[in-house]
Amino acid sequence: MKFASLGSGSEGNALLIASVSQTKPTHLLLDCGFGLREAERRLARLGVEPSSLSGILVTHEHSDHIGGVFKLARRYRLPVWLSHGTLQAVPRDDTVGVDLQVCRDGEAFSVGDLEMTPYTVPHDAREPLQYVAHDGHRKLGVLTDVGQSTPYLVEVLSGCDALLLEFNHDSEMLARSMYPPWLRARISGPLGHLSNAEAAGLLAAIDKRKLRTLVAAHLSQKNNTPARVREAIGAVTGGEFEPIIAHQDEGFGWLHC
Ligand SMILES: [Zn+2]
Ligand SMILES: [Zn+2]
Repeated sequence: MKFASLGSGSEGNALLIASVSQTKPTHLLLDCGFGLREAERRLARLGVEPSSLSGILVTHEHSDHIGGVFKLARRYRLPVWLSHGTLQAVPRDDTVGVDLQVCRDGEAFSVGDLEMTPYTVPHDAREPLQYVAHDGHRKLGVLTDVGQSTPYLVEVLSGCDALLLEFNHDSEMLARSMYPPWLRARISGPLGHLSNAEAAGLLAAIDKRKLRTLVAAHLSQKNNTPARVREAIGAVTGGEFEPIIAHQDEGFGWLHC
């Protein structure tokens, strides 16, 4: 399996997950928070034709994740997987003519060579899901947009070969930021986003014996720095992992797991 990012952060998110079979690899897009032209441009950067995608999986209805999903799906006739709650949160007109597939927490489904397992997370959306991908050999765990660690998250993400984990903000930088108090409270609250320390705590708790690739994602451009993320990860892993930092504009190139 391999994965790459079109961009990561509050301005837009999209992750490509692909099987590496010799015959016809499966390419799935996880979220698309970019407009149609921008998504096409970013896919081309990674060498992927939009028409070769097998579909789009959606995590939740926040615009940095869903903003471009239905335009891309309609243009290239791609099926879209999402939770019942996310579907309820989307205006009806947006989904006209799109093949919609409702998925549920803990119920795995296959798309081509990939098996995807959605799982519920605490975040301030209707029914947010995150996903674990399997290709029969390797396990990739994806987790962004989550307000707190839970025993369920620790269980789901244990045993991954590769992990993409939200390191949203540094608590001190957020507290000193110009953000209004309500926004600071939302971001740092139990249904907001993970601070570096919270993400590091989750990382410390999961079974990392198979973990080879660690990506820090959805960093705040105002309230975090790659150096602070590396510091937080180093503090719990003793320098065992050199994380890849996902960038808002560049995302990151293909990583094999
Ligand atoms: Zn987000
Ligand atoms: Zn969100």
